[in-house]
Order: sequence, then C-alpha cells, then structure tokens
Amino acid sequence: MIKSKNILLYETDVLVVGSGIMGATLASILKEIEPSLRVDIVEALNAPALESSHAYNNAGTGHAGYCELNYTPLLANNRIDIKKAVQINAGFEMSLQYWSFLAKKYRLFSPEKFINRVPHISLVNGSKNVAYLKKRYLALKDNPLFKTIEFSSNFRTIGKWIPLLGVKRSSKKYAATKVECGTDVNFGEITCQLISILKTKRNFHLYTNHKVLDINEHKDGLWSIKLNGHKEIRAKFIFIASGGHSLKLLQKAKIYEQTSYAGFPVNGQWLICKNPSIVAMHQTKVYGKAKIGSPPMSIPHLDLRIINGEKILMFGPFASFTFKFLISGSFFDFISSVRFHNLKTLYIVFLKEWSLFIYLIKQNFKTHKGRMADLKLFYPEANSKDWYLENAGIRVQIMKKSKKDGPRLEFGTEIIFSKRNNLAALLGASPGASISVKSMIEVIEKCLINKKKKGVWESAIRKMIPSYGIDLVKNPTLLKKIRSDNQKTLGI
Ligand SMILES: Cc1cc2nc3c(=O)[nH]c(=O)nc-3n(C[C@H](O)[C@H](O)[C@H](O)COP(=O)(O)OP(=O)(O)OC[C@H]3O[C@@H](n4cnc5c(N)ncnc54)[C@H](O)[C@@H]3O)c2cc1C
Repeated sequence: MIKSKNILLYETDVLVVGSGIMGATLASILKEIEPSLRVDIVEALNAPALESSHAYNNAGTGHAGYCELNYTPLLANNRIDIKKAVQINAGFEMSLQYWSFLAKKYRLFSPEKFINRVPHISLVNGSKNVAYLKKRYLALKDNPLFKTIEFSSNFRTIGKWIPLLGVKRSSKKYAATKVECGTDVNFGEITCQLISILKTKRNFHLYTNHKVLDINEHKDGLWSIKLNGHKEIRAKFIFIASGGHSLKLLQKAKIYEQTSYAGFPVNGQWLICKNPSIVAMHQTKVYGKAKIGSPPMSIPHLDLRIINGEKILMFGPFASFTFKFLISGSFFDFISSVRFHNLKTLYIVFLKEWSLFIYLIKQNFKTHKGRMADLKLFYPEANSKDWYLENAGIRVQIMKKSKKDGPRLEFGTEIIFSKRNNLAALLGASPGASISVKSMIEVIEKCLINKKKKGVWESAIRKMIPSYGIDLVKNPTLLKKIRSDNQKTLGI
C-alpha cells in the first residue's frame, strides 16, 4: 500500500468492479488458473450479491434453452431456429462443469445450498401456439443436448406435469414440453461461496463499501480508479461487472467503444407464495409465451424456487419502466446516462419501440387484481390472499448503433472491450448468470490470457471445464460423461 496526499494507492493486476456472479466468477477462474496473479474486487455495497445476483432478484432458472420459447423463434420460412437454445445450453454446461470442479476441490463449495433439480416445462394454449410448440419439439428432440425433451398435448399428462393448471376443466387446446433435468439455481449463494474461497487465497481482496466514482486511463495503459473516501486503485486490467451501473462506468472510462451504447432500464417484480399446501403442488418451472407487444423479459413463468432450504413459488416477472439502473441506484441514473453521442440512438430507439415503452409505463399502474389475472392463466384457482408482491432486480437493456439496421434495442448480454483489451465491461442481463462461466472465459481469452503461457492456461481451463473448445453436439460421448459427472457431483 502506497500513501500519497490522503489518497491510498493500491496496485493490482486485475480490478473487478462489482461483486455479483460475473465479477466473482472472473476472479475465481483467474485465481484457479494463475494463483500468483493479484486480483481485487471493489463493491459499492456492504456485501456481495445484493443486486441482480441475489436469489430473490432473479428467477433462478438455470437457463439451458429447455423451456424459454424466446430462444427458439419461428422464422419467416416457417422453420424453428434452435441456434440460440443450443448455444445457451452448451454455455450452461460450462457453468455446471466449473461448479462441479469447485465442489470436488473445496469443502467451502456446497452445491446442495445453491442448485436443485427442477424440471423445465413450456406451456402454451391455442391452435397456433400448440402447432409452434410441436414444431419446436421436433426441431430439438434429435439434438443430443435436448434428447430427453418430452411433448404432450394430452390434458391428463399436462395436468400431471402441472397440477395447479387443472387443465381437465378447460376446453382450450393445450400443449407442453418437459425436460426432467432442468435446474433451479441460487446465483447469490454461488457468488458468496466463490468469494469465501477467494478470501482464503493470497493476492486477493474484496473491498466492500468501496464505490467506483471515476476511471481514467494513463498513457501507458494503466487504469486509475477513483473510489469514495478519496481512495484510488491502479490496475493493469479492469473488468466492469457492475450490473445496471456498467454503462455509466464505461462512460466514465471514456473509451471510444462505449459511444455506440445507451441503456433502457426495466424494473421487475414477482408474486410470491409461501403457502406450503400450494407450494407442494408445484414442483417445476413453467414458462409461457410473452403477450404480443411485451418484451421478452416479461415472459410469464411460474417457478418452484428453493432458497436457503425453503420452497416457495414465484410468478412473474412483471416488467415496468424505471429511471434507476440498480435497486440501490438513483432516480437520476437514466437521465445522467444520456450523452451527446448516444442521444440519437436513444431518440430513434424510443421512436421504434414506442409501443413497448407505453406497455412498460402502463405496467407501473397494474393492480394486484391485474397481476392475479395473469397468474390465473397458469393457476386458475389462485387466491390473491396467498400471493404478495416482491421486488426483483433491474435490467438495463442495451440500445446500440448498428450499421445494418440503425439504432436498436437488444435483449441479450454483451461484453464490450477497449481497443487495447485492457478494459472489459458486461452490459445487458440475459441469459446472464447461467452462462457466467462461458462469458468470463471469453474475457480471459480476449484480454488476459498470458501469451507466453497460452498452452498452460488453456490446459488449466480444460482441466476445470472438459468441454472447453469442444462442440458437445458433435461429441455425444463426452456430453454423456460430463452430464453424468455433473449430476453426481452437484446432486441434480
Ligand atoms: C428479474 C430478473 C430475472 C432474471 N432471471 C434470471 C434467471 O432466471 N437466470 C439467469 O441466469 N439470469 C437471470 N437474470 C440475470 C442475472 O440476474 C444477471 O445476469 C446477473 O445477476 C448479473 O450479474 P452481475 O454480476 O453482472 O451483476 P449484479 O449482480 O447486479 O452485481 C453488480 C454489482 O456491482 C456493484 N456496483 C455497481 N456499481 C458499482 C460501483 N460504481 N462501484 C462498485 N461496485 C458497484 C453492485 O453493488 C453489485 O453488487 C435475471 C435478472 C433479472 C433482473
């Protein structure tokens, strides 16, 4: 530690801003590959994983493309595009392998506290949607990653899969698919366990209550990071994993690459039920179809969640507009992210997505009765007394310039890299936490891999993640081995 004019200076190899699942995963993988590397995390709040990564602030779905219908769009040529579902499934397999590796290596890493097998179901009604789901099932079932998927349009079978639905009473046409090996994941618990392991290592420190206020690059490529309390840290590489705040910090870093981006904040809320007799009747995650005009993050789903050993039901998310970029953020977040360079992007996207914007504003005025009406599509007998409203996390969707279609709104996750590859920042939120390991390996490959030790680093990654660099669709034998190993180690 160097002291200078009341400013404390630390020098580090890698500084991670934010102790959610992304920041903790990057720090963890790096320290497994190269223990001598100095890696530090700064966190504005007083503990890790209090924003989007917290168990109640996200849906805890181990996204694997099994039930999320927005990952398998119907194309204009009437074919189902399964590319995104395949990519996400393979990405989630990487997370499972890394968690298995850690569970074998560390007693501090306890999968029974963060992952449970919860089957994933897609449910639709109406002839058009039933035809779509059948087509989707046929497109997925021969892919080795999805070979256990089941389809049914039989009321009795669907009623057994989703007892709360009571489809026996309905005259509507229903169809559902089910994948038995789906999961419910407590990403907040994983984050805290990763940090506990990191704290046992040399050359690592987590600084809580340390908020990054400014970021400046020196001519030699070193970053100077200003924190509250007149502190400063210098870093060779900086990873901005600050959830909704990433865009604002990226703007402070003033790298050219950030000029293409603006942020569109979306608030989330859940209906929660803790009545044990109702919870006992629902043992799955059931995903429906988003209403026309609503954003993909408002796809309704009724989920069994297992949080700190307690089983609860979560329904939602109810998406609405907010001005804040984080739960702990400020109502000026959105306004202060508007810059001269992103004004045109914002303006054009608002014009293009006007109906979505109106939809989100209207959602701010939704009553408990209105929310219950949405839930009743999944659980017709739902009683409003059994359900209460809880806040979820805030997602800041990306608005970006694109050469092809002009400025547009994106719903995925994107990693932005500086030209010198000495800074990376993660924007967006979906599928997010589930593919955190894949995303962080991408950051390591692009910015941090030690050129002289490339082979050593890659073989270290392969030891932790046997499918690294291998297409699992083309290697069903490896897939079978990995899945059986993960299921045994993680108890899923
Ligand atoms: C409603 C909802 C449902 C979701 N459902 C799922 C799901 O089912 N499955 C899934 O895989 N993903 C889901 N996600 C996405 C997932 O939650 C996120 O991708 C993931 O949690 C992001 O992790 P993170 O580490 O990037 O951000 P966060 O967990 O938000 O962490 C960011 C951290 O940075 C800190 N920070 C911010 N600014 C500063 C600063 N200036 N200085 C220092 N620290 C700072 C914050 O305090 C916070 O601790 C969902 C998200 C939402 C909102």
